[in-house]
Amino acid sequence: MKVFRTIRELREELNSCKQSQSNVSVGLVPTMGYLHDGHASLMTRARGMSDIVVLSIFVNPIQFGPGEDFETYPRDEERDLALAKSHGVDIVFIPTVQEMYPKQVKTKVVVSELTSQLCGASRPGHFDGVTTVVSKLFNIVKPNRAFFGLKDAQQVAVLQQMVTDLNMDVELITCPIIREADGLALSSRNVYLSQEDRTQALVLSRSLNEVREAIDCGRAATAAEARLMLNEIIRSAPLAVIDYAEVLSFPELSRVEDETVLVDMQGEVIMALAVKFGGTRLIDNMLFKPKEALLLV
Ligand code: AMP
Repeated sequence: MKVFRTIRELREELNSCKQSQSNVSVGLVPTMGYLHDGHASLMTRARGMSDIVVLSIFVNPIQFGPGEDFETYPRDEERDLALAKSHGVDIVFIPTVQEMYPKQVKTKVVVSELTSQLCGASRPGHFDGVTTVVSKLFNIVKPNRAFFGLKDAQQVAVLQQMVTDLNMDVELITCPIIREADGLALSSRNVYLSQEDRTQALVLSRSLNEVREAIDCGRAATAAEARLMLNEIIRSAPLAVIDYAEVLSFPELSRVEDETVLVDMQGEVIMALAVKFGGTRLIDNMLFKPKEALLLV
């Protein structure tokens, strides 16, 4: 496994790989590091679908707002490199902020509409930072495929829109959410949780499962009922401070009207949550086709 910290060296390596072998496929797994089994699932998927797997580790300052956790975001390069190696990564790209942004950024990639709700509403500018850095990584690595987790479902919708709109020659592969045995979605930010926060944070996956069940058996028929139930279950955890608990169509991310009967909907629906526990903001979601539940009954 090779580690590069500069764009020039990484490009030289990828160019020489492409010259020595024809038709090599490159898979890119972009991350902010502090790797866990969620990231590992992306590396494994990339390994199975690519000749060369490139993992990027970069805590991207321009996707953090003022007062957010850019400075304190957990970092452990040594552990990350060992994990990347054990998952068959060929190349790790770990640039400094100076390497990625040597001068003030005057060009940004901005996706409209899909970025105005959910995390886009509570973290203004966040997705502009994400689409800009992912575009830069695509231009640097020129991957055939890039791998992203559905843990960040809005990010997947936004990036797919960007790739389509700008005719970027890369296929996005989305991977399911990896959870702890008790249901908590893996996240680098879980280390911030106190023991009590950690226990109460289980309400996220529990609310998604319970509301899904209620939709399937007709106890929560409309979007309003599903939303109400999600909010009530989450509020039963005293430490939970809800940012949003929403029901939207996916990947359009349009709010489903209150009176809409969910099992009448044709496409996919997402129940999306962002909730703070002791100052740590966690996100979780569930994607499903309500109509399929009806067909199973
Ligand atoms: P991050 O390092 O948090 O920016 O995440 C890098 C990539 O890993 C993103 O595509 C995330 O969606 C994905 N990821 C993070 N956590 C999980 C998880 N629990 N399950 C699946 N993918 C994840």
